[in-house]
Amino acid sequence: MRGKVIDLSHPLSSDTLVFPGDPPPNIEKYASLAEDGYNATWLQMGSHLGTHIDAPYHMLQQAKSLDDFPLEKFMGEGICINCADSISISAEDIKEGIRNETFDFLLLYTAWEKHWKGRNYFSDFPVLETEAAELICSFDIQAVGIDAPSFDPVDGQLLNHKILLGKNILLIENLCNLHLLLNKKFQFFCLPLKFSKADGSPVRACAKLISEA
Ligand SMILES: [Zn+2]
Repeated sequence: MRGKVIDLSHPLSSDTLVFPGDPPPNIEKYASLAEDGYNATWLQMGSHLGTHIDAPYHMLQQAKSLDDFPLEKFMGEGICINCADSISISAEDIKEGIRNETFDFLLLYTAWEKHWKGRNYFSDFPVLETEAAELICSFDIQAVGIDAPSFDPVDGQLLNHKILLGKNILLIENLCNLHLLLNKKFQFFCLPLKFSKADGSPVRACAKLISEA
């Protein structure tokens, strides 16, 4: 592929911090060139580790899992709007950030990524107001992404998850480098692993710039 592709995914390791209550990952070599003649790695992780997608089945029993969607669901045109000053993202914030344009993926830049390696990453992060989630449902889009751990507070009722996933709008959490996409139009990619009844999956999210929007 010609042109620069921007990596929007955090690196994964056994030290990667997890959402409160999730199991810690274990990523370690089980074979090495020196001892076995080849390198191979044991990967043990929750389906919502690091940069990942949530499927409707994450929240709703009779709903689609990631493996139920065609691959087109995980790629398309994106825009990224600046919510960096908002600790709770309102419908107004979203309206202000969107011009007359069509897009498949809406990414919300909050700048919360700067806390990624700190314990406070998973507390007091910016979340969506319910009206903002309802507004997003009125768009004909495939997914919404954010550079924070969740669209809902840690100990809430996960209402935004249910509203958005109930409309088959996928959620992408723990993105990074979104500042590089502000005021740009881009192709966005976030292919999940293909396992049965996938409620979520780590992804290698990335973007390829199309033009200055
Ligand atoms: Zn998740």
